[in-house]
Amino acid sequence: MNLASTEISGDFASLVEAESHANLMACLQCKKCTSGCPVAAMADIKPHEIVRMVQFGQRDELLASKMLWQCTSCQTCATRCPQKVSVAALNDGLRRMSLGAKAPSKSAVVTFNDIFMRAVRKRGRMNEAGLMASFKLRTMRLFEDMGKLPMMLWKGKMPLFQFAAPGRSEREAMFERASRIASPPLGGGEAGARSATGEGDKQ
Ligand code: SF4
Ligand code: SF4
Repeated sequence: MNLASTEISGDFASLVEAESHANLMACLQCKKCTSGCPVAAMADIKPHEIVRMVQFGQRDELLASKMLWQCTSCQTCATRCPQKVSVAALNDGLRRMSLGAKAPSKSAVVTFNDIFMRAVRKRGRMNEAGLMASFKLRTMRLFEDMGKLPMMLWKGKMPLFQFAAPGRSEREAMFERASRIASPPLGGGEAGARSATGEGDKQ
């Protein structure tokens, strides 16, 4: 964290707190969240640093972070925190905000999430072959992990065709409701909420 470039800003912290309900001002910086986090070792920003950066108003750096999307929502941080600060909830709120940010995260998980949500909305179930093809085309990771494909096909882990699940209209209603409930992300108007719920799928 570059403290020299920080600007303490209550505005951003208030917005994030309203979005995530994470009680972040109670943080003691004890690092118990980070010491238990399964992805902290590879994270560009550690869980306790996320809290501090929100307090300091380091909005752009945070919203571009890969850690927001690498977080597995395992809740270990929330369970270990003596102050009942949930970094998991904080990350959820920051993810919604990052979808509409000027410089969103470059993590490939954002693309994966978008493909996944569109598939759930449209088909009601995941088609692994379609998921992998879309992900590879959109990220240009064309030959990554291709060595695993024959075994996955052999074991039946990647059926080439699946029928869509019934209930398309119910799913549409559910996604519409979710996009109405989702509060507009910082600087992104309704775009982020639409992306988060796969609303662009209809276009
Ligand atoms: S465990 Fe809680 S109080 Fe300690 S640094 Fe993490 S968020 Fe802050
Ligand atoms: S919820 Fe996210 S930040 Fe918290 S411990 Fe799990 S992976 Fe780490």
